[in-house]
Amino acid sequence: MRLLLLAGTMEARQLAGALANEPRVTVIASLAGATRTPRTLGVATRIGGFGGAEGFGDFLQREGIRAVLDATHPFAADMSHRSARVCHDLGVPYMQFLRPAWMPAPGDRWTFLNTEEDAARHIPEGARVFVATGRQTLQRYANMTGRYMICRQIEQSEGPFPLDQGYFLNSRPPFSLESETIMLRRLEIDWLLVKNSGGPASRAKLDAARRLSLPVAMIRRPLQPEGPKLETVAAALAWVRRQI
Ligand code: NAP
Repeated sequence: MRLLLLAGTMEARQLAGALANEPRVTVIASLAGATRTPRTLGVATRIGGFGGAEGFGDFLQREGIRAVLDATHPFAADMSHRSARVCHDLGVPYMQFLRPAWMPAPGDRWTFLNTEEDAARHIPEGARVFVATGRQTLQRYANMTGRYMICRQIEQSEGPFPLDQGYFLNSRPPFSLESETIMLRRLEIDWLLVKNSGGPASRAKLDAARRLSLPVAMIRRPLQPEGPKLETVAAALAWVRRQI
């Protein structure tokens, strides 16, 4: 069976690794091309957009794809909506892997935001803000004048820092509770600005914020397509095997 794995997450990497050893399935993984030097997934991988809904549909038909497992990031909602719709129209089975969202625990000081633009309503002027939402959406904080914005990114970016005050901090995961605590203290951070990606890999900053009693501005997830979702890699693998 030919399976398209929409990738771009840690779990997609785990799924690709497990399916590489499944002789009854030929996996084609797909990456958007956002990371300049992505680590290999261990299966055939295409990189770059499909060219909209039409290009995606053409790809599914040309490649004889029999099932689509969408393991894109919880904030890559456009891709998921589009993929669900095209698969439905073409009668190709589609399933979404979606890791559970983070939930606040006792000791957390979270404020939920609907959009990046809402941050300015809650984070006061003069605050030093640790921005963990990535460089792609940084322009949406243009109204955060008077705040000092330190944006963590994995890859060096070209061009100047796009906001009023602040800088890029280049740093590569994994991050531990210990290293995140030290970093937030060293940078004298007053607020953490985070999107609700969920999952264990990037959770340490939230645990560090709790430890330091720092307030967190948590951007809610976008709406996902309707339909069933799977929350574990094991359940997603079981779904793939049921499609054979
Ligand atoms: P998006 O806004 O939902 O999608 C924008 C466009 O990117 C899509 O229309 C599609 O282009 C292309 N695309 C997205 N995922 C793709 C994939 N796996 N393979 C091929 N093309 C893809 O997505 P996004 O938020 O920019 O995220 C892009 C990628 O980065 C995703 O794969 C996602 O898993 C990963 N990622 C995103 C975030 C985040 O916070 N958004 C965080 C970590 C990783 P066409 O219309 O041309 O097909």
